[in-house]
Amino acid sequence: MKVAICGAGITGLALAHRLATLGVEVVVLERASGPREQGYMIDFFGPGFDAVEEMGLLPQVEDVAYQVDEASLLDERGRRRASIDYVQFAKSVGGRLCSIMRPDLERVLRAGLPSTVDVRFGAGVTGVEDLGDRVRVTSADGETLEADLLVGADGIHSTVRRLVFGEESRYLRHLGFHTAAFVFEDEEIRARVGERFCLTDTIGMQMGFYGLRDGKLAAFAVHRTTDPALPDDARAALRATYGSLGWAVPQALALCPPSGEVYYDQVAQIEMPSWSRGRVVLVGDSCYAVSLLAGQGASLGIAGAFVLAEQLTRSPSIETALAAYEELVRPVVTEKQQVARRGARWFLPANRFLLQARRFFLHVAHLPGLERPLAAAVTGKSTALVTNLKGGAEIRSR
Ligand SMILES: Cc1cc2nc3c(=O)[nH]c(=O)nc-3n(C[C@H](O)[C@H](O)[C@H](O)COP(=O)(O)OP(=O)(O)OC[C@H]3O[C@@H](n4cnc5c(N)ncnc54)[C@H](O)[C@@H]3O)c2cc1C
Repeated sequence: MKVAICGAGITGLALAHRLATLGVEVVVLERASGPREQGYMIDFFGPGFDAVEEMGLLPQVEDVAYQVDEASLLDERGRRRASIDYVQFAKSVGGRLCSIMRPDLERVLRAGLPSTVDVRFGAGVTGVEDLGDRVRVTSADGETLEADLLVGADGIHSTVRRLVFGEESRYLRHLGFHTAAFVFEDEEIRARVGERFCLTDTIGMQMGFYGLRDGKLAAFAVHRTTDPALPDDARAALRATYGSLGWAVPQALALCPPSGEVYYDQVAQIEMPSWSRGRVVLVGDSCYAVSLLAGQGASLGIAGAFVLAEQLTRSPSIETALAAYEELVRPVVTEKQQVARRGARWFLPANRFLLQARRFFLHVAHLPGLERPLAAAVTGKSTALVTNLKGGAEIRSR
């Protein structure tokens, strides 16, 4: 079997890794001219964590992960108003949690790829033709290739989804926020942040900082807006929107890199009635983005890729494999999407009353015995999606 994967993000790389390990011929087509260096911090836990362990990559992931002790919510003058104990949170997910920068996770996945995997950068997919029992893929470098299956792992604004399933507006649900992330360097803020995730405890918009190695910091920003349209100049928009926030924010905005190095997007989910059509299937954010409100998109991308690879190599036909993959993964992501939407008002309070209520909720969360149920309210049900596949049992679609 030959599989073409569109997208060398976390999901595409995890799929390439698992498929190639299981003996499948894999070509990865990536639009970017090289590995992406911009990114943000990811809390990594859940089924993707299980998958990475199963793939033998957990030690490498843990090697580049960061130690975060707590998320501190600070008012405009830098006073700590509430906190989330990461150590307790880690305990509530069985200690199976780490914080890792997205480019570092991609680097680990790329470095672990079997040498048989053909990764082509600067090869954005521009055309897809279903030939019945095969698929023909055209890429921006002018190449055409044929494969038994094309997998669209090309993210929330997927080209494969648009080409095969129709316009983005049919599937994208704007959740009422914009988000941004950038990396900058500042010794003083770095020292103040320490091993914490320091986040402004503010209404309608928040900016937070993680301390990185080499004196750097990863800034994360989110604000409420009903308008999904993105600004032309991300840095200018950040300065205009967040400039009035206190604490270290003005200093960070002054050091924000040019817009090309800033991640900026709307916060959205993708919901589709079906994830495959003929010899094309989608995985990860392209077909089930859960959004950063769920805090598990990367984990679910890797887990979905793992399940898809297992099904493709165990099932009697590609059709059966695609049906089984969707049947297993869909209930898990649907639940996470619902939990994320329910939690939107607490994620970023829209008024003073909700801000105070969230502070109270976070104080209560520190009481003994309440950490686990409250963590479950934020992260949803735990799932054995990946661990259930252990032992080689074939899971068929009903
Ligand atoms: C601010 C923020 C914080 C987050 N925090 C967390 C967290 O704490 N925990 C967590 O688990 N998740 C988190 N997420 C979600 C997580 O980052 C995403 O769900 C995950 O990165 C999706 O991976 P993906 O590979 O499916 O898509 P992407 O990361 O979008 O990768 C898609 C790839 O496809 C490529 N591509 C696009 N179009 C084409 C084309 N036409 N041809 C070829 N290649 C193409 C892109 O260049 C890219 O490399 C967060 C997201 C954001 C924005």
